[in-house]
Amino acid sequence: AKEIGRNNFQFYTPAMNERALERLHIEGDLRNALEREEFTLHYQPQVDLRTGEIVGVEALIRWQHPELGMVPPVRFIGLAEENGLIVPIGAWVIRAACLQNKEWQMAGLGHLRMAVNLSARQFAQEDLVESIASSLRAADLAPEYLEIELTESLVMADVDRAIGILRELKALGVQLSIDDFGTGYSSLSYLKRFPIDVLKIDRSFVNDITIDPDDAAIVASIVSLAHSLRLQVIAEGVETEAQLNYLREHDCDQIQGYFFSRPVTAAALTAMLEEGKRL
Ligand code: C2E
Ligand code: CA
Ligand code: CA
Ligand code: CA
Repeated sequence: AKEIGRNNFQFYTPAMNERALERLHIEGDLRNALEREEFTLHYQPQVDLRTGEIVGVEALIRWQHPELGMVPPVRFIGLAEENGLIVPIGAWVIRAACLQNKEWQMAGLGHLRMAVNLSARQFAQEDLVESIASSLRAADLAPEYLEIELTESLVMADVDRAIGILRELKALGVQLSIDDFGTGYSSLSYLKRFPIDVLKIDRSFVNDITIDPDDAAIVASIVSLAHSLRLQVIAEGVETEAQLNYLREHDCDQIQGYFFSRPVTAAALTAMLEEGKRL
């Protein structure tokens, strides 16, 4: 572990060295991962609390590294964000997600909303809207079946610019959601200026709704305020039946979390749709 000495002297430890080396190693490999087709998408279902049906999925990237095995996004998304690789990687995610969604539609497995995560670098990109439009065209997917997840910090960084881009995306016909809601610096009154469709309540609030009355109150009021702004609400990170029941009683629209399913491969999600898995 790192130690801070009396004079704020930070000792260099073998563990830090290892981390620095891993970082270098990973960064080099990340540059080749796209062309080597080492990325894959996992899909986590979103379930409607009234019908119990799967109505959407969130696409979550995975990196199958030849030596390290499955590398989770927390270990490379930040890096890809820093060095700009997130732009081509993110474009690949959107293309692959649109194609997969169209495949489920063509197989008669329903018309799901496919949510993808957008990073700050992608959002800053000049041709973002055109790039999304071209992925939709390539997959021949109707825009309403694609949802773009944005975080509060991403849209709050430059509000006027964000509103402009979100309007263009709405004009294209895609759905827009705010991810990790409640963790950033924004408010519902502010968000009403953005043309968004869905709020995703962050897992940190959902976690304790059955034990912490403050979190329970926060979640209940996010749901009712969101509804008064005509937004749909998805609760993230739902792991227990007690959490689910609370959310249902408080009129939340959809849930996503380990209680129903972890993120799974396309094949596993296909099987879920085929057998009509529901809450
Ligand atoms: P996120 O967008 O908030 O995604 C939800 C994360 O919570 C996922 O982790 C998911 O596996 C996890 N999760 C879902 N249900 C539960 C639950 O019930 N309990 C717990 N403890 N966790 C749950 P994952 O897949 O490791 O992704 C982590 C983050 O990496 C994502 O957080 C997102 O910020 C980022 N990420 C993933 N894929 C992409 C991508 O394609 N592009 C970008 N820019 N970021 C991505
Ligand atoms: Ca997300
Ligand atoms: Ca989230
Ligand atoms: Ca989160």
